Amino acid sequence: MTNDKFFVIDNLKVNYGSIQAVKGISLDVKKGEIVTILGANGAGKTTTLRAISGLEKVKDGSIYFKGEDITKIPSHNVVKKGITHSPEGRRVFGTLTVEENLWLGTYTKKTFDKEMLNWVYELFPRLKERRKQLAGTLSGGEQQMLAIGRALMNSPEMLLLDEPSLGLAPLLVKAIFKVIKEISEEGVTVLLVEQNAKAALKLADRGYVLEVGHIALEGSSDELLTSEKVQEAYLGKK
Ligand code: ATP
Repeated sequence: MTNDKFFVIDNLKVNYGSIQAVKGISLDVKKGEIVTILGANGAGKTTTLRAISGLEKVKDGSIYFKGEDITKIPSHNVVKKGITHSPEGRRVFGTLTVEENLWLGTYTKKTFDKEMLNWVYELFPRLKERRKQLAGTLSGGEQQMLAIGRALMNSPEMLLLDEPSLGLAPLLVKAIFKVIKEISEEGVTVLLVEQNAKAALKLADRGYVLEVGHIALEGSSDELLTSEKVQEAYLGKK
């Protein structure tokens, strides 16, 4: 079976041993969209992104990118196809400099893309200032910028962002979301996992709400922002 849409997940199931973390979710992302996956702790958001990237074994279901079934391909080949992943918890290489971390992001291309580096530095001037600093000594917000920057270095067509706002002060959250918008405006499609539902829905075109491995709700960002269920469960309103 093929699928001519840009990105499609069809009935994805992922288990950890006997734990069913993702229980048959289906979603799609159109080229150029920002789509967000919301949900509480343990809903299966990170697992879904890791399955897309080839980092978790898929038990059942399929993942298609530009018509091709990428469900079973290894993670370095997923990157080569044009999907890169900025993981939760930043995961930068602490004993390497900022710039070395960014160059590592180009590992599948085997060429140093100076233009891309300049774009990342334009998006995050702080990283440019600190390019010779060891990544392990950066603040949490700066490490988050670096993780996103590194994912961009492979010139992705689609960027997977796992909780880019986690643990950041409100001003920094705003700055990170502004950069995600700029990345999108340059033509990169974005799949954004977030617990910060309000900020994510303000930025995204559409969203899916995951609850214990299922999609509980889906819709345009406006629909979700005004949905009673989302307001109660994720936006702290009654
Ligand atoms: P969070 O926002 O807390 O990261 P999440 O929505 O990203 O939550 P996942 O990390 O995908 O959720 O976890 C989904 C379920 O799978 C949870 O019940 C979690 O405990 C379980 N899980 C995740 N990783 C593993 C693992 N490596 N081994 C066993 N169980 C796991």
